[in-house]
Amino acid sequence: MLVGPGGVGKGTVATRLIERDPMLWLSRSWTTRPQRPGEADNAYVFVDRDTFLANVEAGGFFEWAEFLGNLYGTPVPQPPEGRDVLLEIEVDGARQVVARRSDACVILLTPPSVEVQRQRLRGRGDREEHVELRISEGLSEVDAARSFATVVVINDDLDTAVDDVASILNRYRSASPDAAD
Ligand code: 5GP
Repeated sequence: MLVGPGGVGKGTVATRLIERDPMLWLSRSWTTRPQRPGEADNAYVFVDRDTFLANVEAGGFFEWAEFLGNLYGTPVPQPPEGRDVLLEIEVDGARQVVARRSDACVILLTPPSVEVQRQRLRGRGDREEHVELRISEGLSEVDAARSFATVVVINDDLDTAVDDVASILNRYRSASPDAAD
């Protein structure tokens, strides 16, 4: 599971991992956040709040959380046989997953600096007031996630970060062959 503040590059790292590791299966989340300009249609299942809450009631989520006013949730995973589930989620959801699956591997991605994170958030088109909110939210997320993360990876150089995460996952798999996430 990849955890970390917005703008740290979790999505990019997840995409790269999926490309190079056929055993990984990326879960697609639901969100009530509006689709960003230029964001892929399949980045999330985009739904309204009522639809989301109805799925909560129906027990359709493995975890879900509210983040900056929007709801995000992981549908109960149904990976093909033998594949490992990769989640890319915020810290409250990650805590719920760890409570349900104590064998989950939690990789906390952190930005090399607040300024780099700010530039990344701006670069992907977040509104300016949202950028500052995400920065402060991100700092408390990192603090909270440190307490239960399996390992921390600094995403300074993307290729290095992806290599680091891939080797952590491989080591984790050899140590606990039945583990998912
Ligand atoms: P964004 O709006 O930038 O796409 O996502 C905001 C935050 O929600 C990010 O930290 C992202 O990892 C997290 N997130 C995405 N999907 C889920 C999910 O299914 N559950 C939870 N708890 N967080 C999610």
